Amino acid sequence: MKSIFDYKLSDLSDYFSSINEKPFKAKQVFEWLYKKRVTSFEEMTNISKSLQEKLISEFDISLLTLRRKQTSELTNKYLFELNDGNLIEAVLMRHDYGLSVCVSSQVGCNMGCSFCESGRLKKVRDLTAGEIVRQILMIEDDINERISSVVIMGIGEPFDNYDNIMDFIRIINDPLGIAIGARHITVSTSGIVPKIKEYAHENIQTNLAISLHAPNNEIRDRIMKINKAYKLEELIDAIKYYIDETNRRVTIEYVMLKDVNDSVECANELSDVLRGLNVYVNLIPYNETSHIEYKKAPNDVVMKFYDTLKKRGINVTVRREFGGKIDAACGQLRASEVEKWNHFI
Ligand code: SAH
Ligand code: SF4
Repeated sequence: MKSIFDYKLSDLSDYFSSINEKPFKAKQVFEWLYKKRVTSFEEMTNISKSLQEKLISEFDISLLTLRRKQTSELTNKYLFELNDGNLIEAVLMRHDYGLSVCVSSQVGCNMGCSFCESGRLKKVRDLTAGEIVRQILMIEDDINERISSVVIMGIGEPFDNYDNIMDFIRIINDPLGIAIGARHITVSTSGIVPKIKEYAHENIQTNLAISLHAPNNEIRDRIMKINKAYKLEELIDAIKYYIDETNRRVTIEYVMLKDVNDSVECANELSDVLRGLNVYVNLIPYNETSHIEYKKAPNDVVMKFYDTLKKRGINVTVRREFGGKIDAACGQLRASEVEKWNHFI
């Protein structure tokens, strides 16, 4: 059965037209779901009984099952069970500017970046748009507060699940949906070049972040398998294309791995690669995982790297570390932990 949360407003309007109902009923259903947050079709009192019955027979309106939650001062990490029993994670982060949620886009990930825990769990399947929407609804219900921004940086490669991700974005961005402003939505990709170009034409003011993590093909080949399919030059061209088409600034994510990509030479090389592009670099402290071959670059090395980029005119920030105790910051989700958690439940 299809979930009602898989539907964009336009799809729901089309559905109502197709069953000879007034398309504006879609707006009413959206308001019930996303503004009033009802949990059953019976509560939609401006929908006729017969239509309610039709909706009940055609759509699943259930949310996800919360299996576990870990909280610390600035983060909540959630483990959700999907209807088919698969488990996914999402993380809430409290910033001074508001609340942000990091959602997962797939069960597992096939990109196989050698430093990333999510890649250890091979992709089982894509998430539907509704399963991603429901991660946000579940968290808002839990904390009884509204989320102000969303990053698609949990488990999975969003551009390997492109159509569902775009539906998800349109649902949460809809003023009648969760109404999260496009500028507060960020997609992070490991660099699927054709999809970056497609994203450039979506005509929406959302943000793009690229997991670059290396200043040359030699290092990137070693740590990111995807670089074998799309070389660094091609990726940089795609970023340039996206910037030219959208006029939007792109975030370059660069995880600082000790003795792998953290030298001053790397910083110099990176600044050459990025010269003239409207980007800013976000240096990410590595969250050490079961990939024992990778260690976190020491703080002074990160600062030297930062200074080198800065001196060479590149916009750069260092990402603040979140939730050390529960090691659950966004982009550092541990897929294997999903498996571990399995033993507790
Ligand atoms: N698949 C997408 C989005 C999810 S990963 C992507 O790769 O962009 C989100 C970010 O977290 C990526 O930049 C990824 O490289 C980074 N990341 C993965 N494992 C990490 C770890 N252990 N510590 C810090 N960042 C990590
Ligand atoms: Fe997948 Fe992103 Fe992890 Fe690479 S970094 S394995 S693309 S989740």
